[in-house]
Amino acid sequence: MSRIWLSSPHMGENEQHYVNEAFKTNWVAPLGPNVDFFEQQLKDHLTVQGVVSLNSGTAALHLALIALGVKQDDIVLCQSFTFAASAFPIVYCGAKPIFIDSERETWNIDPGLLEEAITKNIASGKKPAAIIIVHLYGMPAKLNEINAIAEKYQIPVIEDAAEALGSTYYDKPCGSFGDAGVLSFNGNKIITTSGGGALASNNADIVKKIRHLSAQAKEPVPFYFHKEIGYNYRMSNICAGIGRGQMEELPNRIERRRAIYDVYKNELAELEGIEFLDEPIGCKSNRWLTTIIFSKRTYQTGTNERLRQHLELSDIESRSLWKPLHQQPVFEKNESYCNGISDELFETGLCLPSGSNLSDENLNFVIAEIKSFFKNENAKK
Ligand SMILES: *Cc1c(COP(=O)(O)O)cnc(C)c1O
Repeated sequence: MSRIWLSSPHMGENEQHYVNEAFKTNWVAPLGPNVDFFEQQLKDHLTVQGVVSLNSGTAALHLALIALGVKQDDIVLCQSFTFAASAFPIVYCGAKPIFIDSERETWNIDPGLLEEAITKNIASGKKPAAIIIVHLYGMPAKLNEINAIAEKYQIPVIEDAAEALGSTYYDKPCGSFGDAGVLSFNGNKIITTSGGGALASNNADIVKKIRHLSAQAKEPVPFYFHKEIGYNYRMSNICAGIGRGQMEELPNRIERRRAIYDVYKNELAELEGIEFLDEPIGCKSNRWLTTIIFSKRTYQTGTNERLRQHLELSDIESRSLWKPLHQQPVFEKNESYCNGISDELFETGLCLPSGSNLSDENLNFVIAEIKSFFKNENAKK
């Protein structure tokens, strides 16, 4: 048996065809018909004004910050419980991230702490230039509350939907709520272009600006002419060919990941002290990764890591939850607003194999291995 991955690329029927077409027509260069088609598919899915495909989600975050006017010495409020790529681009801009902890219902940015951070910083003379929220593991954040706060203080919101393509909040797609929405098509995400990202917005000026900046900020004249600093962040027509095929499969991929979550939940429900993240009213998650939490009442700290090692012995990949950014050495000196929730999630959680290409047979094998771990664990008590 081969290794069982956390979330590996899952190709459909047509990706190869669109890539071959790019070769046949010599559209191997950046841009081309696959790019146009892929952007249209994303636009239709998100129901937004415009989408720009880029070479990574990180690039999309970087350009979103620039387009929203974030500059040297600004401060940007950012969800702490996330992958570091949510915050790195703030530093690329010379601005400073301030980290905000999560609430328990969705594990995303806590609106109460967010407002506290805004009012404190405004009181000390520094209005935050932007807010970066994340829909972690595909679960939509509390968008109504967050948007009300952002509107009250007139601060733009960047929605990091890198993990949430296909998730919805009261039936509206994640990635379509913020002043700018960011997607990632990295190899482990719900769909992949082998590497890539996209920026979505309902603001035509932002879309236009990002398209311009992503292609070296070339002015539309017959010679090379630049009025701004540009970036080489466009997606290639080859990668977009993969994305085009992947978008055709998106509904199947979401259905499979959600079914995997349900199987884990049903099968592991019998184990005491194992908790799942249910969907609050209005939230539909793409269930990018299924996560479990070991209740602190039932289990000692380190149980998650011991289960990870146990699964590894059977060549099963699992992974700890994101280590909060306020705990990362690289951000040690940054201001943060914490409530202990993301620290506890990191200490007690584990991500389980959740790829849409995980077979029933392998899923059952993972579940059997988890159950055997708990049998030993409970026998020790
Ligand atoms: C994957 C990811 C990113 C970065 O996307 P890349 O395409 O890998 O650059 C950003 N934020 C979150 C939350 C992610 O999971």
